[in-house]
Amino acid sequence: MLGTMQDGQLSIANLLRHGSRVHANAEVVTWTGGQARRTTFAQVGKESAQLAHALRGLGVTSDQRVGTFMWNNTEHLVAYLAVPAMGAVLHTLNIRLFPEQLTYVANHAEDHVVLVDGTLVPLLAKVLPTFETVRHVVVVNGDPASLRAPEGVTVHSYAELLDGQPDEFDWPVVDENAAAAMCYTSGTTGDPKGVVYTHRSIWLHSMQVCMTDSMALAQADRALVIVPQFHAMSWGLPYAAFMVGSSLIMPDRFLQPEPLAAMIAAEQPTMAGAVPTIWQGLLALLDQKPQDLAPLERAVVGGSACPPSLMAAFDKLGVTIIHAWGMTETSPLGSVSRPPAGLSPDDAWEYRVLQGRFPASVRARLIDDDGNELPWDNEAVGELEVAGPWVAASYYRVSPGEEGSEKFSPDGWLRTGDVGAITRDGFLRLTDRSKDIIKSGGEWISSVDLENAVMAHPAVAEAAVIGVPDEKWSERPLVAVVLREGQSVTPEELRSFLADKVAKWQVPENWTFIGEVPKTSVGKFDKKRLRASASDGSLD
Ligand code: ADP
Repeated sequence: MLGTMQDGQLSIANLLRHGSRVHANAEVVTWTGGQARRTTFAQVGKESAQLAHALRGLGVTSDQRVGTFMWNNTEHLVAYLAVPAMGAVLHTLNIRLFPEQLTYVANHAEDHVVLVDGTLVPLLAKVLPTFETVRHVVVVNGDPASLRAPEGVTVHSYAELLDGQPDEFDWPVVDENAAAAMCYTSGTTGDPKGVVYTHRSIWLHSMQVCMTDSMALAQADRALVIVPQFHAMSWGLPYAAFMVGSSLIMPDRFLQPEPLAAMIAAEQPTMAGAVPTIWQGLLALLDQKPQDLAPLERAVVGGSACPPSLMAAFDKLGVTIIHAWGMTETSPLGSVSRPPAGLSPDDAWEYRVLQGRFPASVRARLIDDDGNELPWDNEAVGELEVAGPWVAASYYRVSPGEEGSEKFSPDGWLRTGDVGAITRDGFLRLTDRSKDIIKSGGEWISSVDLENAVMAHPAVAEAAVIGVPDEKWSERPLVAVVLREGQSVTPEELRSFLADKVAKWQVPENWTFIGEVPKTSVGKFDKKRLRASASDGSLD
């Protein structure tokens, strides 16, 4: 028997129509370092129509890929909406990838047009000659003459291209399962892998972002979107904002602690989203230059494990850090840590530091080395596998048997590569990424647990832990420590600090002090580079 309800496509065009009409006055602010640029959802709707007309003029007629090489700003938001709404596919290029990776992803996705921020033209210019399918480059907020076009490529000015275009567009009806946007992840081995989101997956994920026990994005929010639009779709915040009408504060290229502090003071965000390293940087600044962060009420933190010391520090500043877990492959929201009701602050804390509970749409299971499913008892540790309507079922153009296909189980679940346990009441407790776990004398040491323990020391700003070869134990942890400004501490002091925090055999004997932990293209600790430096001796 079929239901008697209407059918309706969950499409980006509907999201765009809704947000720009019902939430016409919601604001989009782009930080410029000087006077912020301000616009409304209504204007974004009109500009999206103009961009769609302009792209049609450049030959974007079906599901061609339109790449963006941009910071978080109004124009990037316009592209987020216009490109999928017109039936094409948005491809957010991660500006921090290595040149050869950029070449690979642009050619693999077969980008037809690339939109580039004026400030990023020099970076794009280096790789553009290797982009085989790109025919048009559109320079946003910059001088098109600053880019020398390779043969076969035409360079345009965004402002001129949109000038005079109609501010309405007859958005086509698009199948909700059609591709809307794509993002490559470099977390796997080999070449980056493309994850292709559908209109439906983005819509459903946006609803989750707005749910109360999730990020709780709401109309009254002013969301500071620090997590880049070129990384895991800014955690879905731009689309979710269009769903509920929360205003957006876009930091553009100003991601350093000082401008972020200034943005918070001037634009009064109520919520924000960023990886832990951003908050560590802000915290170090606030240590030196205290500032009232109100009305910033909550910060969603994920992308790597959030050190409990960071959470505690922000609690003192009146900002609740909400710990979340996810991946590019999961759109990215996988779990969010909201403690069960009725607990004392101390008991709630035990939950807050975990990676969180899975929403109804994300199924989870733990699998051991032999492929058996493990119980949810907070003890059994295995690899996390997930499934659901906004979880990738495959990588773009990776067929079964090809490199990358092993990330998907025969029954279609995503193998996350993350290792941990799940509590009886469904909270994920990750211990590590499988490739970062340290195997010492047949036992496992969680690099993340050690990092968190070391980072709780008041003299420590950051600590990254990797495994180094050891004759007796096969591997032992090495801790790379970044000190807070003006502080000092010895390895012996740190070892005794750890004595009552981790098992005795886990206390590291290898320590090194460094100026900065190398970071990946998305701001996480780059353990690959740390391991390379450790093995060629350049870490000492
Ligand atoms: P990349 O692999 O390039 O970092 P992603 O951003 O997709 O790409 O990273 C997803 C991974 O980030 C997860 O598989 C997990 O290892 C890590 N991660 C994300 N959130 C958390 C968290 N809250 N705690 C621990 N690890 C996390």
